Amino acid sequence: MKNISILGATGSIGLSTLNVISSNPDKYKVFALSAKSNWEKMLSLCTEFKPSYAVMVDPDAAAELQKLAPEGVEVLSGISAQNFIASHKNTDYVMAAIVGSAGLASTFSAVTAGKRVMLANKESLVLAGSLLINAAKKYGAQLIPVDSEHSAIFQCLQAGTSGLKKVQLTASGGPFLNKKLHSLGKVTPEQACAHPNWKMGKKISVDSATMMNKGLEVIEAHFLFGLPAQHIEVVIHPQSIVHSFAYFTDGSVLSQLGLPDMRSAISYALSFPERHPSGVEDLDLTKQNDLEFIAPDMQKFKCLELAYSSLKNGDSSPATLNAANEIAVEAFLENRIGFLDISSTIEKTLLEAPIRVLDTLDSVMENDRLSRQVANSVIESSA
Ligand code: NAD
Ligand code: MG
Repeated sequence: MKNISILGATGSIGLSTLNVISSNPDKYKVFALSAKSNWEKMLSLCTEFKPSYAVMVDPDAAAELQKLAPEGVEVLSGISAQNFIASHKNTDYVMAAIVGSAGLASTFSAVTAGKRVMLANKESLVLAGSLLINAAKKYGAQLIPVDSEHSAIFQCLQAGTSGLKKVQLTASGGPFLNKKLHSLGKVTPEQACAHPNWKMGKKISVDSATMMNKGLEVIEAHFLFGLPAQHIEVVIHPQSIVHSFAYFTDGSVLSQLGLPDMRSAISYALSFPERHPSGVEDLDLTKQNDLEFIAPDMQKFKCLELAYSSLKNGDSSPATLNAANEIAVEAFLENRIGFLDISSTIEKTLLEAPIRVLDTLDSVMENDRLSRQVANSVIESSA
């Protein structure tokens, strides 16, 4: 029986993780849950899963939860409480499923406590990839990817990396794949969040529409698999059935396929190196006879190009790209900027923010704070 802590339990990945756990009650026990402010949802999860701890980062939400929490569930509040459950001695595995840079501190806590960290929070790696990978080695933590593309590559590399030439991440292309660049200026947050294949949180849905999601994933792949940018390619595959490719020097190409349902990757991160039922239906390839693969249009999906160049520039560039993206996506979701302003905000922030060496968690946090200030002033000056 493995004790699981889920950070970001009320979100799309958090709830899918709880669904996989429900299908395997003899293998996994929910030890602790965290969320930002949705205490009503957390209350229903506490009633169903009876964790030892429930953390609400927002203190008012914690106070509300405290009034109604079932007996045996200890309610805690704040970021430090989240780090506490991520590194608790009774936690075996930690699902890092907070959205954005807010997930870094607890991911780092879990890694330095030597846990198995099931990593959905790709922003952690974009912000502090070298720090996390080195800390995982130092403290004996396992970083298992949950992002479907990285899970696919991780699965393809189980026999080793001998002769590995390059990896190719598949991308759905998002809801605007077939729209012309000039028509994207007027699209709404609702249109951007209507992803054709995956049901996800709002931030990653907008990232998928701009293809910044794939840009962040290129950076994520760089740190997870130790590959340089030129050996990480992106191909658009609108059906989201093939979840990425690994190319080898002998001409072989390995891939992992499945229906677009995150429970497969979540289940693999939980059960690795074994496999357990995830609740995902079998794939029937006779019903999938139109699988397409298309090169991405880097002019239309400027964010993807910005992510590649930030990776090549190194040091704080990917972290600054991430900070600017989080600020720009929030502004877009609040109708303060247009869809195409997302990439221009990021581009200007990257030009204005100094490049720094980030070798401690504090320096990463400080760079994040300063880059957000630059991005906010870019938005204000263009309003
Ligand atoms: P979501 O918006 O549905 O859920 C986010 C969760 O994080 C919620 O539980 C929320 O309470 C919590 N949270 C938000 N801000 C917080 C803060 N400041 N402090 C603590 N908790 C906070 O997001 P999601 O779609 O589940 O995505 C979560 C992560 O997984 C993201 O990094 C995303 O890129 C990644 N991911 C998601 C999918 C997917 O299919 N949804 C696929 C691959 C990767
Ligand atoms: Mg992905």
